[in-house]
Amino acid sequence: MIHTKTHNKLKNNSLKNPKALTSTSYTQSYTHKNPNQYNGETIGSQVVEGKNTHNKKVYIESYGCSMNFADSEVVASILSTEGFETIVEMKEADLVLINTCSIRDKAEQTVRKRLEKFNAVKRINPKMKVGVLGCMAERLKEKFLEEEKIVDMVVGPDAYKDLPNLLQEIESGRNAVNVILSKEETYGDIAPVRLQSNGVSAFVSITRGCDNMCTFCVVPFTRGRERSRDPKSILEEINDLVSKGFKEVTLLGQNVDSYLWYGGGLKKDFDKATTLQQKTAVNFAQLLSLVAQEHHKMRIRFSTSNPQDLTLDVIHAMATFDNICKHIHLPVQSGSDRILKKMNRLHTRQEYFDLIDNIKKIIPECSISQDLIAGFPTETEEDHKDTLSLMDYVQYHFGFMFSYSERPGTLAERKLEDDISEEVKLRRLQEIIEKQRVHSRHRTAGYKDKTVCVLIERESKKSEFQWSGRTSQNTVVVFPKEHYKVGDFVDVKINDCTSATLIGIPLGISETI
Ligand code: SF4
Repeated sequence: MIHTKTHNKLKNNSLKNPKALTSTSYTQSYTHKNPNQYNGETIGSQVVEGKNTHNKKVYIESYGCSMNFADSEVVASILSTEGFETIVEMKEADLVLINTCSIRDKAEQTVRKRLEKFNAVKRINPKMKVGVLGCMAERLKEKFLEEEKIVDMVVGPDAYKDLPNLLQEIESGRNAVNVILSKEETYGDIAPVRLQSNGVSAFVSITRGCDNMCTFCVVPFTRGRERSRDPKSILEEINDLVSKGFKEVTLLGQNVDSYLWYGGGLKKDFDKATTLQQKTAVNFAQLLSLVAQEHHKMRIRFSTSNPQDLTLDVIHAMATFDNICKHIHLPVQSGSDRILKKMNRLHTRQEYFDLIDNIKKIIPECSISQDLIAGFPTETEEDHKDTLSLMDYVQYHFGFMFSYSERPGTLAERKLEDDISEEVKLRRLQEIIEKQRVHSRHRTAGYKDKTVCVLIERESKKSEFQWSGRTSQNTVVVFPKEHYKVGDFVDVKINDCTSATLIGIPLGISETI
């Protein structure tokens, strides 16, 4: 389960209205920037030469979750073999692609606004073709072509290998659509083009789809059923990243802990596999250990965990290997058993507490972050108080908090009335955010006078004289650049903090990671 799948997750990093309670920028101003969320990021900060002589140019914009961003890198790779260079200037493009998110209405509206912009560019460059990829393409299918005249091609998340054929169609003047969801596709055989990368951290997709059917979530309908990628191809991709100097990988899946490789096929069909396949199957804890063991100089992260699928084996693997980062993003969505049931979250409040207790016992230094939804249908003040008290129990390091709004096609839309007023939703959201601010502040203050190991990722946004990196716990640290460089692991003594960032002084290259 990935952050952006949850309902009405307002992750528009470009929304700058600090008064808008529902905007992520507001949430993040005192919590934490979600490193896994993208909004209109252009894939292709460098030009990648096509592998043949067509020398066509593709411009790709990516919205939504890290899975979408990783998919855009797969698309860039497929198109590069078709002779496309990825570029950052839309007006020079022969082909413009927009990889879309359907998680909330706001995300879809953003895409429609971008299509208007594309229209203006197309007036100057009439030969330019426009394709829509991702969850919104899957949700709207052919309807997209009717609703948005500028769109030439609609491609769902499992159909990117069909792009060469679809491109031929649109070249010959016909519109093209492929939104078939697959039982097998994991793109394990495609080496993603690492564009717009800092050369330090990369995403590696390990599962696709989700079987959980949380009632607020559109993912099972737009990304299909759960299937896992061959561990061999995962290890090969990570080997390649290591050889290129990368220092950190994030293993990605909508519900990453549910990873299960038994030779291919849907997770739900595991029961039908042969005895040999079942005996030799690889689960997430095993994959995690395999990767950590083989690449002990590489930091390993994973996202996103679903409480009912996060096993003790995974927590023990995290404790065993220093290079598995001590951070778990563990969305809970609500603290009320009644609401959890209505959301079809397959765990109770007590089971979540038991899991938290186990994490704290086995990995005391582990940070935990959340996703929470305020104002799910029928939520009472009592339910809301349960959410606040759950937060007090866990004391999350940071989180992503949103008010509920209905998404077409979800089970909640079909079965539950969206009966909580906007005013109440926003008030409850504000209370949740306020509580998280207090907890975040408490968590970052706990690092004062301590020394942490930081992997330098980039220059600080606020000062050209400072580096920005993250701890194993996923907390951002800024410190003076001195002689260090991007990709170094540095010990930093923390002397100050905000609720989201640690500020310190570098002590030297770290022995650990
Ligand atoms: S159905 Fe539930 S577990 Fe699956 S992606 Fe959506 S929120 Fe996550």
